[in-house]
Amino acid sequence: MNSIIRIAVQKSGRLSEDSLSLIKECGIKFYNGTGKLKSASTNFPIEFLFLRDDDIPGYVADGVADLGIVGENELVEKDKDVTVLKKLGFSKCRLSLAIPKGEEYEGVSYFDGKSIATSYPKILGDYLKSQNISAEIHEISGSVEIAPSIGLAQGICDIVSSGSTLMMNGLIEVEQIFKSEAVLIGNKSLTEEKLAIVDKLLFRMNAVQKGKSNKYVLLNAPNASLDKIIALIPGMRSPTILPLAEEGWSSVHSVLSEDQFWENIEGLRAAGAEGILVVPIEKMVI
Ligand code: ATP
Ligand code: MG
Repeated sequence: MNSIIRIAVQKSGRLSEDSLSLIKECGIKFYNGTGKLKSASTNFPIEFLFLRDDDIPGYVADGVADLGIVGENELVEKDKDVTVLKKLGFSKCRLSLAIPKGEEYEGVSYFDGKSIATSYPKILGDYLKSQNISAEIHEISGSVEIAPSIGLAQGICDIVSSGSTLMMNGLIEVEQIFKSEAVLIGNKSLTEEKLAIVDKLLFRMNAVQKGKSNKYVLLNAPNASLDKIIALIPGMRSPTILPLAEEGWSSVHSVLSEDQFWENIEGLRAAGAEGILVVPIEKMVI
């Protein structure tokens, strides 16, 4: 039997571009012309459903889709029974409480007895409960920032990334209540055959993710300081050392995370490294 898995991705919005590029970087080819709601890959046993992000957790829980890519905010809000297979590191944002600028704010008890507009009644409700705050939740589906200025609510709880939308609407962020990023979710009762395809997909996603967070570093170093340099950038198994044409010098090649590179740059230079090149890695399989 030739199984095929179905993945639900956002049709258009803040998740869709990164979701589709990740899939493309996994070497999976497909066509997604405008208006198309379903598409199959030409070189991997996967089919795509293009949906609103609100519907993705439910479709995956019901088994209409086997996998989905959705923000943790939407996943927790919808409270569906699915497995989180992988954090994807994009569409990072937070859910925050905000109030009109100029209001005196001394802590979350500010919201006791007040009304808050939000599209996330469950996450907000759970948060208020955990803080022992009793506030009225007004559920609205969009343009939440306008609620205080039209007298609908005294505060809001909404997605914030840079804070500029809040500022434009005369609001200030006072509490961060939830942090979110895109995640790959899966149905809980996939067949063995489908699980085998999911494993293949995860293997590719991990290789892409590892590649992105690591760099290939090349540098020239005097042979006398090779031990010091190898200790700073040990690489996957060990660095490659190649002799330069100039006597007494070597070229050192290694792989390390970008953070590790910046942490060690002073040490490398102090050890005499020069001509340092940092090159992106497309995929990495360890
Ligand atoms: P849909 O039409 O699919 O329902 P939407 O309007 O509900 O889309 P988008 O604004 O496209 O949702 O956001 C999708 C998801 O992207 C959010 O649920 C959140 O996880 C994340 N997100 C939202 N705003 C930002 C932001 N400013 N920066 C990064 N990620 C964000
Ligand atoms: Mg939505």
